[in-house]
Amino acid sequence: MVRHVYDFTEGGRDMADLLGGKGANLAEMTGLGLPVPPGFVVTTEACRAFLATGAEPDGMSREISRHLSALEAATGRRLGQPDDPLLLSVRSGARFSMPGMMETVLDIGLTDASVQGLAKVSGSERFAWDSYRRLVQMFGSTVMGVDAGLFERAMSLLKEKRGAPDDLRLDAGDLAELVETYKHLIHVVTGDHFPQSPAEQLRRAVLAVFRSWNTERARLYRRRERIPDDLGTAVCVQRMVFGNLGPDSGSGVAFTRDPATGRGGPYGDYLADAQGEDVVAGIRDTVPLAELERLDAASYQQLREHLRTLEHHYRDLCDIEFTIERGTLWMLQTRVGKRTAEAAFRIAAELVDEGLVTPAEALSRVGGDGLARLMFPRFDTTAAGDPLARGLPASPGAAVGAAVFDSAEAVRRAAAGEHVVLVRQETTPDDLPGMVAARAVLTGRGGRTSHAAVVARGMGKVCVCGAEELTVDAEARRFTTRAGTVVEEGTVVSVDGSTGAVYPGAVPLVDSAVMRYLETGERGERSAQVVDAVARALQQADGTRRLEVRANADTPQDAARARRFGAQGVGLCRTEHMFLGERRKLVEQMILAGGGAARERALAALLPLQRRDFAGILEAMDGLPVTIRLLDPPLHEFLPDRTELAVRIATAEAHGDLPDPHDTELLDAVNRMHEENPMLGLRGVRLGLVVPGLVAMQVRAVAEAVVERVRAGGSPKAEIMVPLVGAVEELRIEREEVERVLAEVSAESGVPVNCPVGTMIELPRAALTAGRIAEQAEFFSFGTNDLTQTTWGFSRDDVEAAFFSAYLDKGVFAASPFETIDREGVGRLVRIAVAEGRAARPDLTIGVCGEHGGDPESVRFFHAAGLDYVSCSPFRVPVARLEAGRAAL
Ligand code: PEP
Ligand code: MG
Repeated sequence: MVRHVYDFTEGGRDMADLLGGKGANLAEMTGLGLPVPPGFVVTTEACRAFLATGAEPDGMSREISRHLSALEAATGRRLGQPDDPLLLSVRSGARFSMPGMMETVLDIGLTDASVQGLAKVSGSERFAWDSYRRLVQMFGSTVMGVDAGLFERAMSLLKEKRGAPDDLRLDAGDLAELVETYKHLIHVVTGDHFPQSPAEQLRRAVLAVFRSWNTERARLYRRRERIPDDLGTAVCVQRMVFGNLGPDSGSGVAFTRDPATGRGGPYGDYLADAQGEDVVAGIRDTVPLAELERLDAASYQQLREHLRTLEHHYRDLCDIEFTIERGTLWMLQTRVGKRTAEAAFRIAAELVDEGLVTPAEALSRVGGDGLARLMFPRFDTTAAGDPLARGLPASPGAAVGAAVFDSAEAVRRAAAGEHVVLVRQETTPDDLPGMVAARAVLTGRGGRTSHAAVVARGMGKVCVCGAEELTVDAEARRFTTRAGTVVEEGTVVSVDGSTGAVYPGAVPLVDSAVMRYLETGERGERSAQVVDAVARALQQADGTRRLEVRANADTPQDAARARRFGAQGVGLCRTEHMFLGERRKLVEQMILAGGGAARERALAALLPLQRRDFAGILEAMDGLPVTIRLLDPPLHEFLPDRTELAVRIATAEAHGDLPDPHDTELLDAVNRMHEENPMLGLRGVRLGLVVPGLVAMQVRAVAEAVVERVRAGGSPKAEIMVPLVGAVEELRIEREEVERVLAEVSAESGVPVNCPVGTMIELPRAALTAGRIAEQAEFFSFGTNDLTQTTWGFSRDDVEAAFFSAYLDKGVFAASPFETIDREGVGRLVRIAVAEGRAARPDLTIGVCGEHGGDPESVRFFHAAGLDYVSCSPFRVPVARLEAGRAAL
């Protein structure tokens, strides 16, 4: 018999799959003896069954009744008991935190009868009616599907009628009137009545929370956070405690450390005489947690104690929600808290120093995406002038964009390629698409724990919140600063999520301290703790990883920078990048020359230039492997544009002039070489096989550069790589030519030049025949850009812009396969090629040099697939080092 319900006393944090994160942690806190209001959890399994069949799973409601009876016995009150009602909160809680994305219903158990009892036992008519009002409103919208705006409008109308600026001014009579209005509204809209049976309220609330797993915003959030769609949510049912019972009550959010900077010591927001939802929604302004010491020293001391207990128990930053009900502290939620990249590195290092975690665990808690974020530039505040306003620095980084005032506008403009800053008075979960689209989020109200802040931090998006000097008028599409400056929609502003400042116009950016350290090894004073923590994490990763990290570099400068970043060689030198600019003309001559002496002359002119480049790169990477790839792209890329040429010739003829004979010759060549699908045309090894002399020139340049470096006392380690091989025969023919030239240069110079010869694996046929290809290759390097292109049949130059956003929206894939390796398809080809290549040649060296080599998730795959190295752009080298270390933990 499957169980659907667990009491808090029966669970623990290792049951998060079944009880959701919230439920499992409530159970854990209960086990630790912390003051958690009693309750139980309906499992994610029950949710999945309900969502699959549309019916309550067998036995679920009986189990809920049984657990409810136990709760009633423990509290000595019945749910909705007219003279002294037990009231319940019904909250969602999935395996992974999805803040604000699913539903909650509070005050379950209030009815026309029990509201009177609550008034009596609480001693406050107003409180009782306000609670009932909240229940009818939440139940009406969440469970019964009435547009939430209708309730808000009814509330506004009443406030207007009473001349009340906020709802605190409405008295018990007003609130009772509002309850009647709400109930009437529900009846008119749904034809149904607000249920007066507490048991029915509970049952329907649980099912509504189940259903909220599939709301639009929850789906969008999951896609964005790569949370699987089939997990379902658990439901936590818990005795209500009240923070809105007067000045000796209140609610707050606390962190064991500052989640923005990582600084040690408790941190958070508190709001007296309020429920938790008021804190998170940013409806009224909170005070810093430290203020609580003044308001209620005993609760504050207890809270500090509990925070210490939790941090020691979880051995990590925890965040909690708490409520004080008439001087009694209650813990309503805890979890290992989200944090910025900066905080993640700093906290990991400091927890090691405090003896709470090992260096290996610390490494598991930081990530390549975070490191990449810390490598971003920040604003040059000396050039910024006076800020327009200041708010709370909720999620660090610097962003510049046009101010927009609603989510839809942000999405529209971003889709057109504009950088935007989403400005809202406060955000709600409905703003999520706009937050995703924006470069930064700026709000006029709300603390660092408000919805905007929590969500932005999770996304690594710049966020400043609670900028109270701003009056945001979304209707009029502008905001006004206290000094009277009006900023209309479309005006460019700069948002500094690290300081909270908002500047007019586009502020210039300065490099990050982490980047400076990575490039120069200097630690400096700025952000010293973070730089130090990054250094330690990288050191730990380097000591742990099995994968080597090389860089894709085509110039001596790039190679030198990559080496400073920790690259252990060049995994890909794209030689076609060396033929751009001035040299394009020489390639053009080579193509036009056809054959014979003219071609030889053209090639001879290219030779010394190539040799110089190679010598420079070999010098920058002295002692480390440098994989030089023979020319790859279609030759027509080096010729002028066909249409332009044709127009030039036609114009000359129209003027009765003779066209330039060079132009006519060029047009002939361009027409000859034109391909409809150049990516699938004359490129890679095919070029080497059909253009005489090209391979020989390139190999000679490499070999002569090696000789030059040896004579200069260096240790050059050049490797020659053949691109786009599909059949072993192609490689065999090209390899013969390579070896012939290497032997020739060795004989001429008296310096033995032994370059390993290998190939890229970037066509499905190459992967599938890797065993044969390995007979001719000393190394493989996966070209996952082309391998993705040819496996999916996606043109790498076109499809991402054309329709990937639609594919991402429809969930065809969770990330572009050009960004994160498609494990299932492309990854399978990689695994086949590794297995068959190594079977044929056990000492085969295998790496990857497509863009995926610097993508954190892909790096973990390459580790698991048994590769020897990843190669990525120089700036990604530290990211790859870190992830390779994490992969090996
Ligand atoms: C690849 O295809 O993955 C690769 C590295 O080669 P290029 O991007 O130059 O085609
Ligand atoms: Mg390629």
